[in-house]
Amino acid sequence: MDYQILVNKDNPVPRAYIPNELVKVESKYKDNILLDKKAYSSFQELQKAALENNYQIDIESGYRTFDYQEKIYNKLIDEKGFSYAITRIAEPGKSEHQTGLAIDVCVYKNGKCYIEHEIENLPETKWIHENAHKYGFIIRFPEEKENITKYTYEPWHLRYVGEIASYLYYNKLTLEEYSER
Ligand SMILES: [Zn+2]
Repeated sequence: MDYQILVNKDNPVPRAYIPNELVKVESKYKDNILLDKKAYSSFQELQKAALENNYQIDIESGYRTFDYQEKIYNKLIDEKGFSYAITRIAEPGKSEHQTGLAIDVCVYKNGKCYIEHEIENLPETKWIHENAHKYGFIIRFPEEKENITKYTYEPWHLRYVGEIASYLYYNKLTLEEYSER
């Protein structure tokens, strides 16, 4: 598996692309989530470290097939229109969820599960953003890089990139900027 694979609007993967090391994950949020094996074991380390701070973090979404991405993409366009959808959801083949290396993280707190924009101002999220790189993850769509990633800020979307994560973190680089160097 190429942990540095760049998948975005200009770099799609084919419909038939299926990562070869998918494993089933433990998630309280949803059954039958799959992830790349190494991305998952690294997330479990992050999760363990979070728990030492009494932060309960979990996986809301992981691997998505091309077909599933197509379904949710069309659904969002139907509901909100194209111009809303295009900066918020990837077209089928252009989602890095299809690589099994992307995780949408959620936060459990006071018996409630916080997802997507609900986690934005939680201390857990600040902690995740400061520590995820130690476990090989980056915040893939940061707030100040929307013009480069072409996505609005997604504080919940982590991407496993392996050993380059800390380099990207300290140099404030997106995967696009790193790949173009
Ligand atoms: Zn995501």
